[in-house]
Amino acid sequence: MASAFLHVNDLGKSYGQVRAVDGISLEIPKGSIYGFLGPNGSGKTTTIRCIMNIILADRGEILFDGRPLDRQLLDRVGYLPEERGLYRKMKCAEQLAFLATLKSVPRKEAQRRAEAWLERLGLGEWKDRKVDALSKGMQQKVQFAATFLFEPDLVILDEPFSGLDPLNVETMRDVIREQNARGCTIILSTHMLAEAEKLCDSVCLIEGGRKVLDGTLEAVRTDFPLKSVRVAYAGGKEPPARLPGIAHRVFQDDSWRLTLESGASTDAVLDALRAAGQLTLFAANRPALDEIFLSVVRERRAAAGTEAAS
Ligand code: ATP
Repeated sequence: MASAFLHVNDLGKSYGQVRAVDGISLEIPKGSIYGFLGPNGSGKTTTIRCIMNIILADRGEILFDGRPLDRQLLDRVGYLPEERGLYRKMKCAEQLAFLATLKSVPRKEAQRRAEAWLERLGLGEWKDRKVDALSKGMQQKVQFAATFLFEPDLVILDEPFSGLDPLNVETMRDVIREQNARGCTIILSTHMLAEAEKLCDSVCLIEGGRKVLDGTLEAVRTDFPLKSVRVAYAGGKEPPARLPGIAHRVFQDDSWRLTLESGASTDAVLDALRAAGQLTLFAANRPALDEIFLSVVRERRAAAGTEAAS
């Protein structure tokens, strides 16, 4: 396991009676693309704002590379906030260069990088136009460039894809991968779970201000109980109508899709299937991240409802 770039330990933040963040601990591995996921109002933005020292946490510890955020570290951390904000009357290249100088990039180098980034994002022709003249999506790309321009070691992106068309989402995804390959650790807070699944190597799911699961994407998907398997038998034989651990079967796309009973052991199911004939196909359908997300959140909400009712 890679060492952690960012440690968050028992973070808590309330707004009046609302516990927006209620004891969240995170370890963001150095060099990872880390998906910070959760439904609306689950506390993602509040957590990120505490990490960036924009709001003060009620409790907890936040350490970057072993120390609290300071001026020097800020020059190594990029942040794309949920609410975008650029100087509307400033020209695009000028603005990017100015923002980079605030992060200690020398003026000449900042200008060179500003133009290169605008080219890279397809905005080369707009470099001398004021931000005001750009569409919302284009402004978002400029802000995205500003987040990476000073070559930070850690970048936090809060909903970077919202409002972008699929082509631009793809461009942003490519930039995220390139920057990660350069060695930048990236925290990606998003509702777009399919995007998170394409990009992230580790994920964390929060709900109601608490962490409900985290780990490498691989481990999260492997640990989640299987809901179904696909099988086929030699000679097109049908699986027996009743098999232990199997709730339902349907023939689909040249094979049988068997829905597992909740809590069924995959090993026991495989043994029972083998005993019934010669298998030519046995494939586990690993759940997608959004299925895991929905299942975990629904389960937790149902349990909370039961608790409240009892
Ligand atoms: P979304 O995905 O919708 O942006 P989120 O996961 O980022 O949501 P937060 O914005 O952190 O969630 O909100 C967590 C909780 O804290 C919500 O119940 C929200 O209403 C509340 N909250 C957030 N900011 C404030 C504030 N400034 N004052 C009062 N309550 C707030």
